Amino acid sequence: MFDALLLTKADDGTTRAAVTALDPSALPEGEVRVDVAFSTVNYKDALAITGKSPVVRKFPMVPGIDFAGTVAESSDARYKKGDPVLLNGWGVGETHWGGLAQQARVKADWLVAIPPGFDARQAMAIGTAGYTAMLCVMALQQHGLTPASGPVLVTGANGGVGTIAIALLARLGFEVHASTGRTAEAAHLQRLGAREVIDRAALGEPGKPLQKERWAGAVDSVGSHTLANVCASLRYGGTVAACGLAQGLDFPASVAPFILRGVTLAGIDSVHAPQARRVAAWDRLAAELPRDLLDANTETIGLGAVIALAPRLLAGQVRGRVVVDVRA
Ligand code: NAP
Repeated sequence: MFDALLLTKADDGTTRAAVTALDPSALPEGEVRVDVAFSTVNYKDALAITGKSPVVRKFPMVPGIDFAGTVAESSDARYKKGDPVLLNGWGVGETHWGGLAQQARVKADWLVAIPPGFDARQAMAIGTAGYTAMLCVMALQQHGLTPASGPVLVTGANGGVGTIAIALLARLGFEVHASTGRTAEAAHLQRLGAREVIDRAALGEPGKPLQKERWAGAVDSVGSHTLANVCASLRYGGTVAACGLAQGLDFPASVAPFILRGVTLAGIDSVHAPQARRVAAWDRLAAELPRDLLDANTETIGLGAVIALAPRLLAGQVRGRVVVDVRA
C-alpha cells in the first residue's frame, strides 16, 4: 500500500480531499512506475484540491501536476530501476493520477531525467512553476530580448513562477522590476534579484490602450487587466511571455500595442511543451539557477498539510514555492 492525496466528488458536486492508503494495483496504466520522493503545490494543484476550477477531468483523482523520484520498474528501454526522474504536466493530476502520492505510474514519454547537479528536492523546489518561468525566459530571448533592451517586468512576483523568473532574469543580467500585492516582501524579491518593486494595484485596474513605454519585456503570471496594462506599457518592439491567470482568465485589451508598437504577446504552455524544449529548459535551470536562492524561496510540508495549504495559495498568502515531502 502507499499513501496518496485522493480527490473524490461528493453528491453535492463539491470536491473532497483526503490522504488515503491505496493499493499499487489501482495505479493507472503506464510503462514506468515511480517511487515519488517529492511533489509540489502549484496554482493548478490548489485549484484542483479546492475544486475552485474544473481542473480535474475524472474522479477519483490523485492531484499533483509534477513530481520527482526514482524509477521503481519500467517496461521502457529508456528507463531502468533507480533512475532519477521528474515529470511536469501532460495532464498528470488532471486526467491521469499525479504526483501527490508515494507512487505514480506514467508514460515513459512524459518523463525527464533529473539533470545532474539537482537532487529530487531541488528539482521540485523549481517544479512546474520554475520550469514555466524558464520557458518564459527562453521565449523572451527567442524574441530578441537582451539586458541592453531595457528593464523587464515580472508580475505575480511573490508566486512560484514570479520568484523563479526574477532569479533567472537577474542572473542573466536583466534589470528586473517586480509587481506584487505584497510589497512587505520587497526584501525577499530584492534578494532574488529585483531592482525595483512596484505595487500590483497600479496594473490591476482598467487602463488606457497605450501607456508610457516602460518595460522592454515582461513575464506575466496574472492575466486580465494586468496583462492588458503590461502590453500597453511595453517599449516599442517589446515582448511579454504570458503564462498565467492569477487575476483572471480574461484579457480586456486593445490591439494598439501590437499594431502601433510592434509588441509581441508570446503564449507559454508548459503542459504539452515538446520534450526537446523541456529538456532544454531543465538543462538551463541546472546551469543558471543559483542554488542558494532555492532554499530561501521554498517551504517543505508533508502530504497531510497540503489540503490546508491549497486555499492559502489561491488567496496569494504563500510566498515562493511549496515542496511536498510525500513520505513525511
Ligand atoms: P502562485 O505561486 O499562487 O503565484 C501567483 C501569484 O500571483 C501570487 O503569489 C500573487 O503574487 C499573484 N496574484 C494572486 N492573486 C492575484 C490577483 N487577484 N491579482 C493579481 N495578482 C495576483 O502560482 P504559480 O504556481 O506561480 O502560478 C502562477 C500562474 O501561472 C497561475 O495562474 C498558474 O495557473 C499559471 N501557470 C501556468 C503555466 C502554463 O503552462 N501556462 C504553468 C505554471 C503556472 P503577489 O502576491 O506577488 O502579487
